[in-house]
Amino acid sequence: MPIDNDSLMIAIAVSGAALTLVLVIAWLNSRRDSYLFSWTVGITFVVVALFALGMRNGAYDLVHQLVPFALLLVGLSAVLVGAFQFRHGRAPMVALLVLLAIAEAAVVIPMLLGWSGVGTIALNAACALIMALCAWQYWAGRAESPVVLTVNAMIYAVTGASFLACAVVLVADQSWVLTAPPSNWAEEFNALMAIVGLTGVGSLSLTLNHSRMARRHREEANTDSLTGVLNRRALFDRYETMDLPAGTAVLMFDLDHFKQINDHRGHAAGDRVLQHFAEILRADLRPTDVVARLGGEEFCAVLTGRDREEATEVAERIRRSFEQAAIPIGNGAGAATVSIGVAINGPAESFSSTLSRADSALYKAKQGGRNQIRAAALRLVA
Ligand code: GH3
Ligand code: MG
Ligand code: MG
Repeated sequence: MPIDNDSLMIAIAVSGAALTLVLVIAWLNSRRDSYLFSWTVGITFVVVALFALGMRNGAYDLVHQLVPFALLLVGLSAVLVGAFQFRHGRAPMVALLVLLAIAEAAVVIPMLLGWSGVGTIALNAACALIMALCAWQYWAGRAESPVVLTVNAMIYAVTGASFLACAVVLVADQSWVLTAPPSNWAEEFNALMAIVGLTGVGSLSLTLNHSRMARRHREEANTDSLTGVLNRRALFDRYETMDLPAGTAVLMFDLDHFKQINDHRGHAAGDRVLQHFAEILRADLRPTDVVARLGGEEFCAVLTGRDREEATEVAERIRRSFEQAAIPIGNGAGAATVSIGVAINGPAESFSSTLSRADSALYKAKQGGRNQIRAAALRLVA
């Protein structure tokens, strides 16, 4: 290798330190993404371990071996915690702490007994296992961002393989006791993968975080903040550009005498009623049905694969659920009702046309005395 191993370690550590800084900034911008914090902690430990390795200047006593090894294991374990948090939102902390404790013991105990080679083999094997577990997390979750996560998983897997190679070479050479840092092709491969791993995984992780944040902003822009269902703009964006399949049911909902709830129980109670109604819609509709709040106390649902009779039955179920609900409002329970208009999309009919027929049906339900359902006549020709 054209540069010596110590200088290489320090160079990798410096690039890792720069990455830590970028990760801290990313985490400060998006604190609920706890995986960014775990990655920051993990890479910081790895960086300190690499500095410790690079600065030992030929010293190869127990302390100069144990300290960087112990730090490296902690760092990689934190990176693994981040991988779990990235995929699942949280990590199995107890299991991972047990894994870390076993790994540390497998490294430290042989070293204290003078078996420095055995400890080094254990270190490399443990690092290989941790990298493999990281690779598995990203591979299993690759549907979110197939190319980036697959490449990420590959880098972790190859880095893991390079640690495994270091362990295998030491075993093959029966290097149970070491008097100098091992120097062989596997160590060079491992150093190369440390560079590729830190820079590659670092930049890919930031890319992933960025695309997650962009998606979150998109979702927030499309969501009604009070009820969590789609907002009016998202609903129209969705259906103005695409033709609704003929036979799609459009339901319009308007809560009855909602103004009185606000007037008598307060605006906060009114909000609670709106949230409760959205919960009923979510519970009574299928995940494939689309629900939106059009504004105020008006909601819309788009149901595929239901004819007029079935859509009316669904509407009836919602009407009844809402009528019977005891909505917790302040220190009591409130009741409210809803009127519903149903229209079935005719051949070549636009979404807004079907919606306005559902709205006319809703108007009739209001005129008929509220707390009831009206269905518009079927439109059979274009
Ligand atoms: P109807 O049975 O004819 O539908 O009568 P209504 O009182 O429900 O209808 P109206 O349109 O007169 O009143 C709707 C009320 O909804 C008026 C408005 O103050 C209230 N409102 C609109 N948006 C919100 C909101 O976000 N929260 C709360 N609490 N009230 C809202
Ligand atoms: Mg209204
Ligand atoms: Mg109303």
